[in-house]
Amino acid sequence: SWSSSDSVISTDSAGESAEPCSPYRVVLLGASGVGKTAFANIFAGAADSMDSDDYELCGEEVCEKEIEVDGEPANLTLLDTWDTETDSERAPEPCMHTGDAYLLLYSVTDRASFLRASELRTTLRCVRPAQHTPIILVGNKCDLVRRREVSFSEGRACAAVFDCKFIETSAAMQHNVWEAFQGMVRQLRLRRESKEA
Ligand code: GDP
Repeated sequence: SWSSSDSVISTDSAGESAEPCSPYRVVLLGASGVGKTAFANIFAGAADSMDSDDYELCGEEVCEKEIEVDGEPANLTLLDTWDTETDSERAPEPCMHTGDAYLLLYSVTDRASFLRASELRTTLRCVRPAQHTPIILVGNKCDLVRRREVSFSEGRACAAVFDCKFIETSAAMQHNVWEAFQGMVRQLRLRRESKEA
């Protein structure tokens, strides 16, 4: 896990890592209505237009952005998926081949979306076997305290079973959303380092 104090930017390594690397492709997965579009909009810097539904195609490049994590720049391309719940004709599998890492979203106010996240995790494991693909389980809408159906400890326990990281967020309050992206970058860097080692 990481704390928000990790997001403090240091300037001393600026300009050091000249090595050009292709952007990390991060895919948003999750049931309809959990906040994928809201996440994409925050990432794209358009937090005011939370109801926009511009991003529907699987594999569509929502946005590419350079963010700074632990004092070093990282390029991320965010890809949204279609609503796997409302559009059962199309399986989510194709999205699962395109990503370097996955944000697996559910809403803490919607137990069905939590179960859907488990299913997606299982599918992901089948599609990407034997690959240590970074995944973060994201419990969104934690601002909706009175409507909560999935507790923090349930989410954390589920992530432990899934062997992935866990974070609760509120896209509406812009709480922990960037921390989720930063956590993703840290995992991707660890994986890249272990590959190079
Ligand atoms: P998607 O179907 O997964 O893309 O979900 P959306 O991003 O379209 O979000 C569905 C609805 O939930 C929209 O009305 C959003 O404004 C709302 N929403 C998304 N994230 C949050 C959140 O963290 N808190 C609250 N209260 N509402 C949210």
